[in-house]
Amino acid sequence: MTRRILVLPGDGIGPEITAQAVRVLEACQKLGLDAEIEQSLVGGSAYDVHGVPLPDETLDKARNADAILLGAVGGPKWDRIEDLSKRPEKGLLGLRKELGLFGNLRPAILYPQLADASSLKPEIVSGLDIMIVRELTGGIYFGQPRGIEERDGQRVGFNTYVYSESEIERIGRVAFEMARKRNKKLCSVDKANVLEVTILWREVMDRLAAEYPDVELSHMYVDNAAMQLVRAPKQFDVVVTGNMFGDILSDAAAMLTGSIGMLPSASLNERGQGMYEPCHGSAPDIAGQNLANPLATILSVAMMLRYSLNEPQLAERIEAAVGKVLDDGLRTADIASEGKRRVSTVEMGDAVLAAL
Ligand code: ATP
Ligand code: MG
Repeated sequence: MTRRILVLPGDGIGPEITAQAVRVLEACQKLGLDAEIEQSLVGGSAYDVHGVPLPDETLDKARNADAILLGAVGGPKWDRIEDLSKRPEKGLLGLRKELGLFGNLRPAILYPQLADASSLKPEIVSGLDIMIVRELTGGIYFGQPRGIEERDGQRVGFNTYVYSESEIERIGRVAFEMARKRNKKLCSVDKANVLEVTILWREVMDRLAAEYPDVELSHMYVDNAAMQLVRAPKQFDVVVTGNMFGDILSDAAAMLTGSIGMLPSASLNERGQGMYEPCHGSAPDIAGQNLANPLATILSVAMMLRYSLNEPQLAERIEAAVGKVLDDGLRTADIASEGKRRVSTVEMGDAVLAAL
């Protein structure tokens, strides 16, 4: 059956990096992937044309797609839009919410070829390969009530940290399944010494553990997890946590690898439909200069093939091709180092295609 892939280039470096990823997808079509590729607008580029960051047309196409490849959204050009609901970032949040993309997978991998990119000592990070599973559509980012109001003569701001058992259970299952496919070790991160909602979180994870006797479950408070991530990150394999803790920990984990331009991500819903995007943002400082590293986006295509399109062999071929170009010494500016060959966005794409 022909699968549908929707490409949303977005803003900043988004169009440049997705262009290279689309070339990789087209190469996969030649290698047997039965898929059609469509494009649409999201974020600031959609606002400029339609006056909204998530036009109905884009949302319709997204609902009908098996998988979505997103570049990045946002940039200084749109920072002054007064109506917050029209900011580019809302386009992305809207897509996540509308498609129910509750399961965010963020790998943090240190490529051996880039060991010198991390600011941590090699013995601490070499071989690092962590998968953070972050809940993406609940928690304090979406809890009700929320707002800013007058109380006793002054303004107070408040948000509510809410998780239902079923929300915890479904992200828990994603994490346990992931642990089962990897090294059978799962660490659940919470703040159960202070927050009731995470006492429930811990209870549900323990209950699930009984169904996955082959997976070793541990629990850690988020403050300790932050410390351990920097002190001895290789103790982690799969980490599962809520929306806000996951936001912070996955950014920290990404930086351990020292190369934000290399890290892909996936956001999945219950039907296995997914949105795939690099972990980094739209990098307005280097947009339009053919400087951006397209590898995070190309590796996001590999995740798409693995998690939404059931083509694990093509995913492996892409990952191997990326390994090959790194072995060959090709480097975009963000991962440049002495003695290596500096290449542009397009040249990096050329090299991956050749390797593929
Ligand atoms: P966001 O708010 O969307 O997460 P951000 O402000 O956190 O964005 P990024 O857009 O990710 O930040 O950029 C952070 C820095 O990393 C910038 O200096 C940018 O140029 C650089 N950077 C990000 N992505 C890439 C890439 N693919 N290739 C090269 N440099 C990149
Ligand atoms: Mg950021």
